[in-house]
Amino acid sequence: MQNAPGREKRVNLIMIGPPGAGKGTQAERIAHERSVPRISTGDILREAIQQGTPLGLRAKAIVERGDLVSDDVMIGVVQERLERPDTRRGFVLDGFPRTVPQAEALDEMLDGRGPLIIIEMVVPAAELDKRMTARRICRDCGTNAEPADTKCSRCGGEIVARADDGQAAVRTRRQGVYTRQTKPILDYYRQRPTFRTINGEQEPDRVSAALTAAIDSALETASSSR
Ligand code: ADP
Repeated sequence: MQNAPGREKRVNLIMIGPPGAGKGTQAERIAHERSVPRISTGDILREAIQQGTPLGLRAKAIVERGDLVSDDVMIGVVQERLERPDTRRGFVLDGFPRTVPQAEALDEMLDGRGPLIIIEMVVPAAELDKRMTARRICRDCGTNAEPADTKCSRCGGEIVARADDGQAAVRTRRQGVYTRQTKPILDYYRQRPTFRTINGEQEPDRVSAALTAAIDSALETASSSR
């Protein structure tokens, strides 16, 4: 099969959208398709919390009440991760940047590493809470699961709700944090030729198709403006 245009190119991708928009699912698929790592700051933090590392001890209460871990901590985490050799052909970042200072820091980190593609996933507020309530993950490895699953398809671990998805007050708080602290980064990026918005309120396969088209179009724009 012939590759679609742009499939061999470096992909530096960030996904922005409210909690429950489906970023994680789509980030996983696209990372697989383009053979680049998916870097989820939420997963990194949940793993650190579960293992009780210094980062985890610092982040636990903050994550569980639905607030953001400080910019300096998160910038350090992502900087270190992007220095690993598996990001040579690009990456899909999911959950970072979440504030304007994080977006500015990312621009500095990427200096000279090719264009950044920014995807905004739009999903109506009414749908988000439903999705967060239904969301399940593996307690041991963090892999996404369906509410009906009893065992993780990857490691056989127990399927649970995320600690920060369970309480209505925490879910509401995270949506508020998104509106106040993360939405402003859309204005930071919106004017860039590689900014794209996709509709996240469709079947997962259709969202994936829209995402693939948006990435290819952004890569096209980036290479023709070089
Ligand atoms: P969601 O899928 O609901 O958007 P994530 O799994 O990405 O949530 O993140 C879960 C929690 O981890 C956030 O509510 C926040 O407390 C913390 N977190 C993740 N990424 C960041 C970040 N870039 N800056 C600050 N806190 C973060």
